[in-house]
Amino acid sequence: MIQIEDVHKHFGPLHVLKGVSLSVEKGEVLSMIGGSGSGKSTMLMCINGLEAIEKGRISVDGVEVHAKSTDINRLRRKIGIVFQQWNAFPHLTVLENVMLAPRKVLRKSRHEAEEIAIEQLRHVGLGEKLKSFPSRLSGGQQQRMAIARALAMSPDYMLFDEVTSALDPQLVGEVLDTLRMLSHEGMTMIVVTHEMRFAREVSDRVAFFCKGQIHELGTPDQIFESPERPETIDFLRSAI
Ligand code: ADP
Ligand code: MG
Repeated sequence: MIQIEDVHKHFGPLHVLKGVSLSVEKGEVLSMIGGSGSGKSTMLMCINGLEAIEKGRISVDGVEVHAKSTDINRLRRKIGIVFQQWNAFPHLTVLENVMLAPRKVLRKSRHEAEEIAIEQLRHVGLGEKLKSFPSRLSGGQQQRMAIARALAMSPDYMLFDEVTSALDPQLVGEVLDTLRMLSHEGMTMIVVTHEMRFAREVSDRVAFFCKGQIHELGTPDQIFESPERPETIDFLRSAI
């Protein structure tokens, strides 16, 4: 599980995370919602050790992410992360792009890496696109390729940061369907999203971020049907 305890993070004078505490159980889907600049992306970056923290503690399966003794590269292999946009290598095919990490990081043979990549590309519905170049894919297909690439590392956790925000509206559904499929398969996921309907349908819990803090945390019913904090009510009014 992921345990976050009283995490503080500054960027220079800017106090971006102000005592965030949260835990995510195995198999759980947690959505993070909240206005722009509320600290959601920074929180994800801290969870997989891409950003340092000044105070508090984050542990993944009992291993402290920011401890000096932690092998962060090893820990990161357990935690897949997918961003709003991922720049695939344009001169490599979809298959070759997805093979890279298993080859370079997991040191798999070419054959093994290819098998893993094909499996994951089929999994996200891109079995027909193995030999295509990334530029020939739609935005939704590119995001599914990015998800396949993360899955090719066999992660135990997946972090998604607004993976549908850059997409044309008609392409959002196919990417959300892929996330929904992963949740049904029992993947432990943290999903930063503006898609309120998705957060409501797929999440076990929803965390509302406001100014670097979790202002409200609860089941989708609690957050969407009967939010308690005025900030949550205001945000939901503007977001839906
Ligand atoms: P969100 O994802 O909720 O929109 P972010 O975590 O991206 O919020 O940003 C939180 C705050 O931290 C914002 O004020 C943002 O401008 C600032 N910030 C984010 N990353 C950096 C950075 N690398 N350097 C300086 N400020 C940053
Ligand atoms: Mg963000």
